[in-house]
Amino acid sequence: MAKMRFEELPTPCYVIDEELVEKNLQILNGVIKRTGCKIVLAQKAFSMYKMYPLIAEYISGTTASGLFEARLGYEEMGKENHVFSPAYREEEMDEITRICDHIIFNSFSQLEKYKDKVLAAGRKVGLRINPECSTQEGHAIYDPCSPGSRFGVTLEHFRPELLEGVSGLHFHTLCQQDSDDLAKTLDVVEEKFGPWLSQMEWINFGGGHHITREDYNIPLLEECITRMQDKYSLEVYLEPGEAVALNAGYLITSVLDTHQNGIEIAILDTSATCHMPDVLEMPYRPPLFGSGEAGEKPFTYRLGGNTCLTGDLIGDYSFDQPLKSGDRLVFGDMAIYSMVKNTTFNGMPLPAIAVKGKDGDCYIAREFGYEDFKMRLA
Ligand SMILES: *Cc1c(COP(=O)(O)O)cnc(C)c1O
Repeated sequence: MAKMRFEELPTPCYVIDEELVEKNLQILNGVIKRTGCKIVLAQKAFSMYKMYPLIAEYISGTTASGLFEARLGYEEMGKENHVFSPAYREEEMDEITRICDHIIFNSFSQLEKYKDKVLAAGRKVGLRINPECSTQEGHAIYDPCSPGSRFGVTLEHFRPELLEGVSGLHFHTLCQQDSDDLAKTLDVVEEKFGPWLSQMEWINFGGGHHITREDYNIPLLEECITRMQDKYSLEVYLEPGEAVALNAGYLITSVLDTHQNGIEIAILDTSATCHMPDVLEMPYRPPLFGSGEAGEKPFTYRLGGNTCLTGDLIGDYSFDQPLKSGDRLVFGDMAIYSMVKNTTFNGMPLPAIAVKGKDGDCYIAREFGYEDFKMRLA
């Protein structure tokens, strides 16, 4: 793999910064060391398996949203491997019970259907509960506690007589949140499901803990963990995705053209909808190195993608100098929910995936081309 400087990488290109991933992992490992909890990577957010050997040095394993992610964790990390799926297919269950340690069900009907097979394979059976405790505003599509949510069993539908063989309860209710919201959620979990916690071996707090964000309250997280350990003798699992690779990657793009329509417009060789879909879905404004808010610096541009979608806009940003064709721009926080969600819509090329090593040198881990577009169509 040829080494190159950051400035020499082709565009568009996701770059994962090994040093910054490791910094996050050290923070997570501190929580593990101090509390004895276990932390597994939610691969949904970040499945860059080239990094799994590094990640494996610091945390306990992987979790998956279905068979394919579970397989990736099994093949590439090979540590504790968990899976939760809203519903499993019959034909997947042999392989899932072979490669997963914890298999978590979303309903009592799924539990009844597969419990015996999972237990016979010597695997742990878990049940996802829904504490119906919304702690986030604004992002209904990211709130598993919203009314009518399809995730987890609510107290009304909880059936204690079917808990035999279930060794743990799982909840996942947070998204980019601090530990005060976890503490609130735990109060409700105890209030509603407390009577059954002592008969469990473990509890899984799900993901959405923004543990590696600078202002995150880690001591309160650790209190939450030790509270469940001490009060109910439970093993505590966390399964963050974002926190593992938060602020640990970039998307480098080149300006292809500029023109005007009431505002200066720059067309990039990347796309919000194809390469950073959360910019439109969340929505949010990604950080861009060396730029300011619209109007803050002398030259403001509307940055848009190279597709035919009118709404393929990243946002309005300002610069010290006018942009021109060939300029390179570097978006920040592009490791998570980026390469796992990208598409070749409109025939857009997929960004290359590169690694920036601790010595500052970069290498390209994977490049994509026309075949990657064509092979998913028929
Ligand atoms: C999405 C998800 C996670 C990871 O969430 P992050 O916000 O990336 O930390 C963990 N567990 C479950 C069940 C999820 O759906």
